[in-house]
Amino acid sequence: MSTAPSRPGVVPHIASWSAENLPKNLPEPVIAFAGVGGIAYPDETPEDRDDRGVLWRRQGDAQGEGKAQYGKVHGPRQREVMHRLLCQVCGGPADRDDRGMLWLLEDNRTDWKDWPENLLTAHPPVCLPCARQAVVDCPHLLKGSVAVRVAASDVCAVYGMVYSPAGLRPMPLHLDVVAYGGRMAPWVLAGQLVRGLNGCTIVDLRAELDGRH
Ligand SMILES: [Zn+2]
Repeated sequence: MSTAPSRPGVVPHIASWSAENLPKNLPEPVIAFAGVGGIAYPDETPEDRDDRGVLWRRQGDAQGEGKAQYGKVHGPRQREVMHRLLCQVCGGPADRDDRGMLWLLEDNRTDWKDWPENLLTAHPPVCLPCARQAVVDCPHLLKGSVAVRVAASDVCAVYGMVYSPAGLRPMPLHLDVVAYGGRMAPWVLAGQLVRGLNGCTIVDLRAELDGRH
């Protein structure tokens, strides 16, 4: 899942920088938990897992160093921003009013009747100044997006690489959303945190920016 929204010259808080790429020859996850199954690092430390036991992809921490990698989400920052409901662009508090937090989502209203109710997303919310700046600088970026107020959201899953639960060596299979507590949770190398959205109201972004609703 890519970062959005962004504008020229502004690097979203959750985007990666080239100095944060880790060397290619780091240890790959290996099978752990004989008999039960799951992946682990051979040199794992407690920081490699979250408090629900899911293993996270390692990434360096050097925001602002090297070249910005707009399309590549920085896992640890995305995780913190999503956990704390901060703005994905500036990392400050996301906007909240009596109808909920402000989210800018890709417009998939045709997907189901009450979309985006129950949508699972790895995109964190936004603050009003960042939403306003996006409208001013790059209105085309907002084409195909929809502004939504979300009354309730819960951290329910991760997005990451699913490894095969068979064989002697775990093999990366595909990127997917994996629910906490689910059968595949021990087999995912998490890259981003996912929230389920509830109590959603689709709103007019320009009215939100003008404070009219
Ligand atoms: Zn912001």
